[in-house]
Amino acid sequence: MNIDFANLPKAYAKHKEEYDSAINSVVKSSAFIMGAEVGVLEENLKSYTGTKHAISCSNGTDALLLAMMSIGIGQGDEVITTPFTFIATAETIAFLGAKPVFVDIDESTYNIDIDKIECLITKKTKAIISVSLFGQVAEMDELNYLALKYKLPVIEDGAQSFGATYRGKKSCNLSTIGTTSFFPAKPLGCFGDGGAVFTNDDELSNKMKAMRVHGQTKRYHHKYIGMGGRLDTIQAAVLNIKLKYYDEDILLRQNIAKLYTGFLSKRIKTPTVLHHNTSVWAQYSVLVPNRDYVQQELKKRGVPTAVHYPVPLHLQECFNYLEYKKGDFPISEKVAKSIISLPMNPFLSEEEVIYISEQLLDLI
Ligand SMILES: *Cc1c(COP(=O)(O)O)cnc(C)c1O
Repeated sequence: MNIDFANLPKAYAKHKEEYDSAINSVVKSSAFIMGAEVGVLEENLKSYTGTKHAISCSNGTDALLLAMMSIGIGQGDEVITTPFTFIATAETIAFLGAKPVFVDIDESTYNIDIDKIECLITKKTKAIISVSLFGQVAEMDELNYLALKYKLPVIEDGAQSFGATYRGKKSCNLSTIGTTSFFPAKPLGCFGDGGAVFTNDDELSNKMKAMRVHGQTKRYHHKYIGMGGRLDTIQAAVLNIKLKYYDEDILLRQNIAKLYTGFLSKRIKTPTVLHHNTSVWAQYSVLVPNRDYVQQELKKRGVPTAVHYPVPLHLQECFNYLEYKKGDFPISEKVAKSIISLPMNPFLSEEEVIYISEQLLDLI
């Protein structure tokens, strides 16, 4: 068997006519920047998440920048987050001149351990960023409660969790600002780069809307320092179609995850989804001994895998200046050593899931 990890060609083929015609119509209108589809998408995103405001932007990294810029994070500030995430979460903190302050993760969900945050809050702390890793949101009620006590804004990096729910409420509508990414391999991916920010706060929304277009409030009048952070109209047109079918995709992913867990959970540590959460399964990641060998062997047997993430952020070279060392975040370090992501996409057949599971079990 030759299995596809994310199967993007199939996702396109499934609704090819609709995509082609939507893309064509943008090209014909040539309203490539801020065309009508962008406004339509933002309305759709609002109604999907239930947030008062949704602002599309260039990618999930810029979404994090917009969120932090609107809060006013900069030089000398500290932002608390997890070291077990994609680099963008912490890179953007550093990019704005602030200092990432890491907290270890919860061993069952791999999300930020809320209980370990309070002792790290200082006068310089300006925000907390939780990451909804692999498609599942962190313990937001506890996090919001703690943040409220210290009057800190909470940003949810929902790049992997758009569509997930926490106690019945949608990801990206659970804190001061939610951010997401429409990178092609994310659960809701477009045909290039894309992202969005979400908030129920009018003032932050206005700021982020302006900052997305060079801090402009009126053409060539710049109230804030901003960025060129718009989403292309073509990507918005694609997302409007994807979003129509998105709940079906989520269900398919959830069924595949259930199958994997059924086959694997007796022998290896499969993902834990808390009872009040639903996951959109950005990744289906398990812990295995001898990870590098398992990955190599699976590849030979036609099963592509990925490692999210091999090096926790506190041990990344670019963060040497923060002076963290090995052993500072033992759970993140331990998980990083043995985690492996199996193929996950709405098109995997039961037969393929069985094959992948059998091959994996055969190797451990
Ligand atoms: C993908 C990702 C991002 C960045 O999104 P881009 O659209 O690639 O810029 C940020 N945070 C997390 C957790 C991600 O997985």
